[in-house]
Amino acid sequence: IIQLYVPLNWFGTFYRQIQKNFVDMENMLELMKEDQEVIDAPSAPDLVCSRGGIDFSNVTFGYSKEKIILKNVSFNIGPGKIVALVGPSGAGKSTIMRLLFRFYDVNGGSILIDGQNIKTVTQSSLRKSIGVVPQDTVLFNQTIKYNIKYGRITADEHDVITAARSADIHEKILTFPQQYETQVGERGLRLSGGEKQRVAIARTILKAPQIVLLDEATSALDTTTERNIQSALARVCSNKTTLIIAHRLSTIIHADEILVMNDGQIVERGKHEQLLEENGLYAEMWNQQLKNLEGEKLRDEKAEEE
Ligand code: ATP
Repeated sequence: IIQLYVPLNWFGTFYRQIQKNFVDMENMLELMKEDQEVIDAPSAPDLVCSRGGIDFSNVTFGYSKEKIILKNVSFNIGPGKIVALVGPSGAGKSTIMRLLFRFYDVNGGSILIDGQNIKTVTQSSLRKSIGVVPQDTVLFNQTIKYNIKYGRITADEHDVITAARSADIHEKILTFPQQYETQVGERGLRLSGGEKQRVAIARTILKAPQIVLLDEATSALDTTTERNIQSALARVCSNKTTLIIAHRLSTIIHADEILVMNDGQIVERGKHEQLLEENGLYAEMWNQQLKNLEGEKLRDEKAEEE
């Protein structure tokens, strides 16, 4: 019993880590079916995801019974639209993504995709329809080709290269010692944060899901990398229903709707211009970011003078 218990316990810890960080969860979960907290209903049908419309309706949720985290959260994302989640740390943004991926079931309300309650369909079909670009992608100790192909194991060489080009990482890979056959990860070539994120983008492009969840990196990247990543992200999201957690508000000026969260509730919603006019929390966050940017600029100019 003890021998059995140890690996299961290890899986448990690992599973929670995945839940927390959205790390390569799509397939990792397959390895750990034993420890899932969420179970498919007997003879649950597959999700039929044709357009990718998302509906959150009065969603209430807590990780434990004692503490409610999300309170009556309602919003919808039309097929192919982009909705952004912003708000202070701990507001509940990642929790919304975890619920959509069904790491947990809601306590109240419902989440529908194309009219189907995600609670009633198989998890594998749900997760097949959703691509995730996490903040921090963990690479396998494998070739870079394998790491990209992981998005769709049956993809051929040509598809892998097309996805890498689209994610703006193909040229970089050609500079690696063995190009696409180069070993990466902990025991191989270490990639930078921006490069890892582009691997995640390439994977998602290969996977071609209807829905994309994007967790923007908090760490600042240099301006050129930032610009490259933004255009790669735009490509991975085009014609997909997209939910993005944004830390830099400049990246979501064109979102179809911005949801401002605070303490588990949506406290403001609208387009960028509208929210600025409202002069509330969003406007405050925006002005703060402008100030920080100006500060950085001044610092750079001063450094140049010296
Ligand atoms: P950040 O911008 O810092 O990532 P967030 O808006 O994404 O924050 P969440 O990660 O959704 O916030 O967290 C919302 C609340 O839920 C926080 O109070 C957090 O402490 C709590 N929480 C998150 N994960 C768990 C968990 N696994 N168990 C218990 N509480 C959790």
